[in-house]
Amino acid sequence: MSEMNRRQFIKTVSVAFGAAAITRAVPAVAEGKTSEGVKSSGSQVSYEVFALKYAGPFERKLAMIMFNTGWSEDIAINYYIWAIRSKDGETTLVDTGTGPTLARERGFKGFVPPEQLVSRLGIKPEQVTKVVLTHLHFDHVGGMENFPQLYPNAKFYVQKNEFDFWVNNPISKRAPFKGLRWDLGNKGLADLVGSPRIVFVEGDMIIRPNMELLLTPGHTPALQGVSVNTAKGPAVVASDSAHIARSYKDDVPSGLIVDMVVWLKSYDKLRAKAPVANLFPGHDALMLTDYPKVAEDITQLA
Ligand SMILES: [Zn+2]
Repeated sequence: MSEMNRRQFIKTVSVAFGAAAITRAVPAVAEGKTSEGVKSSGSQVSYEVFALKYAGPFERKLAMIMFNTGWSEDIAINYYIWAIRSKDGETTLVDTGTGPTLARERGFKGFVPPEQLVSRLGIKPEQVTKVVLTHLHFDHVGGMENFPQLYPNAKFYVQKNEFDFWVNNPISKRAPFKGLRWDLGNKGLADLVGSPRIVFVEGDMIIRPNMELLLTPGHTPALQGVSVNTAKGPAVVASDSAHIARSYKDDVPSGLIVDMVVWLKSYDKLRAKAPVANLFPGHDALMLTDYPKVAEDITQLA
């Protein structure tokens, strides 16, 4: 194949595999190494990880939560955000939950505004310096309606390919994705473009000592988890890479899929990073019952 033909061939294949091309792995980027002087290893810095339940419980078919498994079984799930706190109180929030407009429109059972949960932990708004968007489904990005105002010191981290899909790609408005979008949340994020408050991530990125964003696509084009060092060892707030912890044990992701092959590779990446017991899923009701309760609707995972 001539050089020209080869280029044309690669181009054609990339187009043919559309969604897969979006989710392909990109080289690791460590923002901290260049702009914030963060080192990835050799430090004993560790974090506390909390799950904050902001809505639920909701009944779902198990077959939606674990792909093609248990069509006649129901399972209860919750909606969460997470807080990762360092010794000095500086806090990274993972996801934003649902903002007031969406909560009002859909009348979510058991809804508590996420910012109220954060304050139950004694975290002051100015201590929140980073907010990681794991992916842009309504229950994770919806709080962008008011988070930039609620947390004036926070920078918002999103994978560039995730942003491009939900904000710019018309496919995300078609039937299989439509119900998962929330334009007001996406707008809150898009409004930050051009300011230093939004960080577009491409691949993995160290954002604090012993805190790393991990690109783990499959559920969405570029979902990311947050890997941290804790007293329990390495742990990952893996969000909807699994709805429930059982997914990691049984190797069965949920029924909401953009690329199952890529998703299983993300499972390999997560398992290489932390023990399965320390991969915290996105919607598991057990996260609220099987861990020490530290405040109403809040448990400490690690
Ligand atoms: Zn979710």
